[in-house]
Amino acid sequence: MGDFYERIVDVEVTGEEAGALAERMVAWMVTEGLITREVSSDGVYSLTVDEGYVPGPNWARAVADPSDPTWLPGPVAVIVGRDYHVGGQGADDAEYAVCPRCETKTVIINYPEEFEADEEVWKPFKDGIAAWKETGQGRAPCSTCGAAVSVTEWRWESGFAVGALAFDFWGWPPLSVSFCTEFSHQLGHRTVEHMGKF
Ligand SMILES: [Zn+2]
Repeated sequence: MGDFYERIVDVEVTGEEAGALAERMVAWMVTEGLITREVSSDGVYSLTVDEGYVPGPNWARAVADPSDPTWLPGPVAVIVGRDYHVGGQGADDAEYAVCPRCETKTVIINYPEEFEADEEVWKPFKDGIAAWKETGQGRAPCSTCGAAVSVTEWRWESGFAVGALAFDFWGWPPLSVSFCTEFSHQLGHRTVEHMGKF
């Protein structure tokens, strides 16, 4: 099956609230039978944690197509703490960011001519993210309208997210749209989903 994951990032929760919310979400998933309290490090390669919760008897309820009886998903890792998350196997930097005030797209990696970030364009974003990781506050200015926008409000390309709480579903079949909607509802926050490989 390979070492791949589907990730759901809460992009609104604060670093201070993330731990308690993570615990509430684990309790909800255990109640629903999606995971158990048993933990395993089997096939878990998450950012800052190396173990996750073993799937429960009802795990198939979360996926779009549970018809393959031989598919056994891996653990669900819960990552608490302000960080940035990158999907796929590509660059560690965001391809672009869209300003929530003026809707202007700032291109950071100019595909297909370039495969790496324009350092000059990326630096204010990178610095803003570093400040946010450190203190919970971090901004990057929009070069078009001049607004100093929080790194949590910039709208990033779909494979990039900043947030204080993430869930990595290791080796699960694609999660269903209705499950992702319910998950976001349970969190009470906007989420970003992406997939990637270790
Ligand atoms: Zn702007």
